[in-house]
Amino acid sequence: MVTAGAARPVQDAAAPHDALANESVSAIGIAHARAIAGAVPDPEIPVVTLDDLGILRDVRLAADGVLDVVLTPTYSGCPATEQIAADVQAALADAGWRSRVLTQLAPAWTTDWIRPAARQRLADYGIAPPHRAFVGEAGTAVPLRPARRDIPADAVACPRCGSHDTTETSHFGSTACKALYRCLACLEPFDYFKPY
Ligand SMILES: [Zn+2]
Repeated sequence: MVTAGAARPVQDAAAPHDALANESVSAIGIAHARAIAGAVPDPEIPVVTLDDLGILRDVRLAADGVLDVVLTPTYSGCPATEQIAADVQAALADAGWRSRVLTQLAPAWTTDWIRPAARQRLADYGIAPPHRAFVGEAGTAVPLRPARRDIPADAVACPRCGSHDTTETSHFGSTACKALYRCLACLEPFDYFKPY
């Protein structure tokens, strides 16, 4: 017989029922809502989610019962920002949540926030993942830098064949956050997600 409930502190009989309901919402529902919001794909790069990008900063229940979803835009003026906000609200609405999207500008987003697993998915998708934007923190390695001495530190590896023999053909690719590269080994063009 399950008796775990008996170990809980006795609730104050005078506490209003809606307060108890809100408490259970915050315990379970918010984490679920956060997972829903975090799983929303980037509208421009569908293989990565908002959680992958690190732009979902907070999900919390406001006093009026509406979920506040806090996002940090990847770039100010990025045309995807409004689409992302609409997609988040639609996904949460499907799960029964009313939500509003708040924008948090500081600290500013950097491509360094992209999760390692998502970097690999970007490469598999044909987009060279960004180099580290910020290096030199005490004691940290620079894992994305090519290890071989004959490869320049800023060389971008071709996501298709892995060659570092690549060249930038346009600083602005299919979107402003990517540069267009060409591999001189396999001759394929590809996008490079610029460090930012
Ligand atoms: Zn190549």
